[in-house]
Amino acid sequence: ATVLAIETSCDETAVAVVRKRHILSHLVASQVAQHRPYGGVVPEIASRQHVEAINSLVAQALEQSKSSWTHIDGIAVTCAPGLVGALLVGLTVAKTLAMLHDKPLIGIHHLEGHIYASCLENPDLQPPFLCLLVSGGHTSLIEVKDHGCYTTLGQTRDDAVGEAFDKVARLLDLGYPGGPAIDQLAQTGNPDAFRLPEGKISLPGGGFHPYDSSFSGLKTAVLRLVEKLRETEPILPTADLAASFQRTVAKALTQRTIACALDRGLRTIVVGGGVAANSGLRQQLQQAAQKQGLQVLFPPISLCTDNAAMIGCAGAEHLERAHTSKLTLGAQSRMAIANIMDLYQP
Ligand code: ATP
Ligand code: MG
Ligand code: FE
Repeated sequence: ATVLAIETSCDETAVAVVRKRHILSHLVASQVAQHRPYGGVVPEIASRQHVEAINSLVAQALEQSKSSWTHIDGIAVTCAPGLVGALLVGLTVAKTLAMLHDKPLIGIHHLEGHIYASCLENPDLQPPFLCLLVSGGHTSLIEVKDHGCYTTLGQTRDDAVGEAFDKVARLLDLGYPGGPAIDQLAQTGNPDAFRLPEGKISLPGGGFHPYDSSFSGLKTAVLRLVEKLRETEPILPTADLAASFQRTVAKALTQRTIACALDRGLRTIVVGGGVAANSGLRQQLQQAAQKQGLQVLFPPISLCTDNAAMIGCAGAEHLERAHTSKLTLGAQSRMAIANIMDLYQP
């Protein structure tokens, strides 16, 4: 199936045309510059920027894909989770186009899109597999039993890992968004310079939760460390701090992911979300998986953060199973991935 896909859940306006698992066109208008002065995403600004960007992106995506509306089999759109005002912009455009051109509408859960990003580079990838989803809002281990059949086995109890990267970057005055800045600076630092807590979750009966994590304690530990260092050091050792933080995060994620894959008997690990771009995580997870004879797939860097190609890929999969949404489909700020079949008509 050939699908036109729209993604506006946060601060990227994205439109793509995808033929099953093949990208025909893929455009992302990032709003990072507009949000940077505020150090984070401002919802009202996000909605307004989506409105301004989206129509011309749809036209460009169609043109670059060399498709006309007759070639498009359906319209996929992110409808949950995300900023409701931002989601509504994409959803409204998608519904209008669906009505105007008489095409089926396919509502897509944003995290399912992140899971499918790896399929664009590995078209033969099929469930079952384990997904490590690491993004600005999520840190989850998801068992993908079948297309559309997801079980969340582990998650963060507080901050998402991308959020931790962004907050630590702010502490180190590295600007916004913080993930790429920490990643780059960490290359020149010593990862063994500082010992930081790995954010294990204690269980009432003793021991630790095998798959859940916490990143707010780690962020606070970096804050305390920075405060202490500022008292004695003329120059803050930011590269060593970045490298130590990144190493700690990568280690924590790697341990839980490998343990989960082995426990569940899943031989393939698919990583998704913005933090899948992180070089420290890529290295550590790749190495650990190799030792265990497991396969790990990372999307190309450009498909780790938000884009519409991944939404189109998930959309094509649903359309082929006749999973389509009603035109009354709404936007939801939160939605468990286990409930995605609620998005489709009975
Ligand atoms: P969600 O997908 O949970 O709704 P989101 O869509 O805002 O959240 P993504 O766009 O998937 O999140 O990812 C953005 C996050 O990825 C940001 O927190 C950013 O700092 C982080 N990130 C991007 N590149 C890197 C990198 N190289 N290393 C670490 N973090 C990174
Ligand atoms: Mg973003
Ligand atoms: Fe995302």
